[in-house]
Amino acid sequence: MRPPATVASLNRKVSTSLLARSIRESATLALNERAKLLADRGRPVIHLGGGEPKNKAPFAAVAGAAARLAAADVKYVPTDGTPGLKQAIIAYTEEHYGRAVRPENVIVSSGAKQAIMVMLHAILNPKEEVVFPAPYWVSYPEMVKLAGGVPVVVTPQDGSFQPTIEEMEQAVGSYTKAIILNSPNNPSGQVYNDEFVAGVVDLCEKRGLYLIMDDTYNRLIFDGRIPTNVYRYEHEGNIENSKVLVVNCVSKMYAMTGFRIGWAIGSRELIRAMTNIQSQQTSGPAAPSQWAAVGALNGVQSAIEGLRLTLENNRNVMLKRLATLPGVHVTQPGGTFYCFPDFSAYEKDSQKLSRFLLEKVRVVTVPGKEFGMEGRLRLSYCGTQKDITEGIERIRWALDPNAPNELFLGERKILREAV
Ligand code: PLP
Repeated sequence: MRPPATVASLNRKVSTSLLARSIRESATLALNERAKLLADRGRPVIHLGGGEPKNKAPFAAVAGAAARLAAADVKYVPTDGTPGLKQAIIAYTEEHYGRAVRPENVIVSSGAKQAIMVMLHAILNPKEEVVFPAPYWVSYPEMVKLAGGVPVVVTPQDGSFQPTIEEMEQAVGSYTKAIILNSPNNPSGQVYNDEFVAGVVDLCEKRGLYLIMDDTYNRLIFDGRIPTNVYRYEHEGNIENSKVLVVNCVSKMYAMTGFRIGWAIGSRELIRAMTNIQSQQTSGPAAPSQWAAVGALNGVQSAIEGLRLTLENNRNVMLKRLATLPGVHVTQPGGTFYCFPDFSAYEKDSQKLSRFLLEKVRVVTVPGKEFGMEGRLRLSYCGTQKDITEGIERIRWALDPNAPNELFLGERKILREAV
């Protein structure tokens, strides 16, 4: 007979919450770790799954933070951001959105991710719904669930990356609290057109919904496009009556992913609610990171244009290489670091395909399923052109029976028949 369980032995059993069990690991972060592990073991990995630029942080960012760090006086800072960073964000908002806002309309968070997360916590009651189009950034569904809400995905029925307004309208019901738009979009690179953004703003205003505008890649757009400015479509001219929240960060445009600084602009009431939540969660973002962000925002801005140009060139190289893959269809991305080609002619199960490419030819890709669309892979072009060319060459070797028989994986030559 088994001895009876003691209180101590019962307490030792790990018991996580229902919520914790319902949340999945971030697929992109997990892939990065797996790729790093393989690279550390000396495997010739090509990373087409990444979401951060290769270039360094702007000099002004590092110099600004270093000068203040030298004083070794790093203390708590206001929960909603330092006055200096708020001023820089106010100037950014005025310059790029034509909106004059006050410090009370700004919250600085630890990345765009936290800004969106505290926003969701600030607005959602249990079971309220948040609507967003597919493909979507991997984190939206899990973030909505973390805040007690229900994600509602709108998949364009015409096979494109932009739903119709009617499709968006059909997804809105009595439980809907907010819509999230991310343009240009991760993973597709889709820049939603003016009619669509205007239509969604209209829909939100008519139905009293919040609109979260995730502008993480707002300025990284190509082909002479002009960055989307959601305020242009609002009928409500007074920010205090507006239910729009515009989210930005230094992560992508300044290549400062590791600094973890993002921000949101909204009505005073909404920002106050978000600040209260952030004050109990993490307090203000790390002071040195905020000093660095001030340096980036107030310093010379040429790095953004340099990055944008590099990305546009890289996108062109990626599209050219993808055209050598028979049966693979790709919609030209209008911005971001990503494209989202359809590989279903080879394999419909994107997780299986992504695993296969990593194991067989050491190319990291992100399965389309993570973004709400099967049969596709997200491929990044934020690395080097050599990586893009070689990565697609390896994918071609792995999938296309008519590709040349031999392939170099680093130093090692492999032959198709021998594998
Ligand atoms: N929103 C989108 C669409 C993203 O792609 C990312 C990062 O990949 C984020 C938000 C998060 O940005 P941050 O690193 O500033 O938290």
